[in-house]
Amino acid sequence: MQNETIAIHSGYDKTEAYGSMSIPIVQTTAYAFRDAQHAANLFALKELGSIYTRLNNPTTDVLEQRYALLEKGAGALCVSSGQAAIFYSIVNVASVGDNILISDKLYGGAVTLLTHTLKKFGITAHIFKSVDASNLEDKINDKTKAIFFESLSNPQVSIADIEGIVKIAKKYGVISICDNTVASAALFNPISWGVDIVVHSTSKYTSGQGTVIGGIIIERDGMAEFFKKNALRYPDFNEPDVSYHGLIYTDVPLPNFTLRARLSLARDIGAVQSPHNSWLLLQSLETLSLRVDKHSSNALKVAKFLESHPKVKSVNYPALESNESYNKAKKYFKDGKSSGLLSFEVNSFEEAKKVIDSTKLFSIVVNIGDSKSLIVHPASTTHSQMNEEELKNAGINATTVRLSIGLENPIDLIDDLTLALK
Ligand SMILES: *Cc1c(COP(=O)(O)O)cnc(C)c1O
Repeated sequence: MQNETIAIHSGYDKTEAYGSMSIPIVQTTAYAFRDAQHAANLFALKELGSIYTRLNNPTTDVLEQRYALLEKGAGALCVSSGQAAIFYSIVNVASVGDNILISDKLYGGAVTLLTHTLKKFGITAHIFKSVDASNLEDKINDKTKAIFFESLSNPQVSIADIEGIVKIAKKYGVISICDNTVASAALFNPISWGVDIVVHSTSKYTSGQGTVIGGIIIERDGMAEFFKKNALRYPDFNEPDVSYHGLIYTDVPLPNFTLRARLSLARDIGAVQSPHNSWLLLQSLETLSLRVDKHSSNALKVAKFLESHPKVKSVNYPALESNESYNKAKKYFKDGKSSGLLSFEVNSFEEAKKVIDSTKLFSIVVNIGDSKSLIVHPASTTHSQMNEEELKNAGINATTVRLSIGLENPIDLIDDLTLALK
């Protein structure tokens, strides 16, 4: 099935739900077991089914199955936010004494989580330059547990050397984790290019209207074999889990990465998604491909306008021929499209502020992927927790303005920016 069809039909059997065309919101904390044996079987994974909404929920389950198929994966776990998805995906494989390699071009919240908060857990992050993975190999050692990068980065809109990263990850048997939030499943499917684990902040294009905070982790098929083959690097998947009466994850014929994230991390840490938010995301997912198409074509029109404007020093949008990521957009992304996210440089911080304060249609908001167009100054907001060196590494200046282009008519957006740049 193609993605547009998957997004509307898969993972749901209406005959099991009164024929309801809309997926029911199973708004419950817990589930009644048929008898004591049924309960024991569920806990022992001899039978699959719902136990408690911190572990699983039928509404969320539809979203997980649907998203796994959309991303060409084998299994998925919904969590309460994109940040939780990143956190779970790392601590599922790394613990005290380990290190991870992270791209120099990441979302600000991911940078603080991975470099500062995880340091307190004894996990060290080393930065590599993701536009060209040739500098990655030197940084890998026995304690390296994951390589983390964004396919299309927020806010730099830079496209990673995905093939290069995957090649090195495979050579050393280290897990590659791709945050695919900005490109979205409509433009790019990392697993088709050999990535092991995909994470999304579903708060962005998946939600599409800025109504939900959510996250998801998706794994490719065959992770159990991967963990067996790389047992020295990933002992937690090959040795008995004392917290789950000695379960060995690689013995279980279920997608291993999300299984452990669910049974151990969701169970213990509990950053799970509410069924109602899963339902909202299921509604939005049906129109994901249509929306991302329109966000992308609108953004290209705005980018071309900005590129020709005398007050704009440069425009950063991969679908522009002048962009350093142009060839990668063509290579990796559907029809060379590159989402609604773009940034541009003006001549001074004062000018950046003036533009932001003068627009009427653009709201000053730190979110992206909303149907409404948004504008923000990353250096003083989303990336304000970063020091000067981190900002420089991330390619963010005091003169950078970021736009998230919405679904309005682009003529109106260009008119608004014309006035703001006067
Ligand atoms: C927003 C965002 C996140 C964090 O997601 P939340 O849902 O806000 O926690 C992670 N990565 C990227 C690329 C993002 O844009």
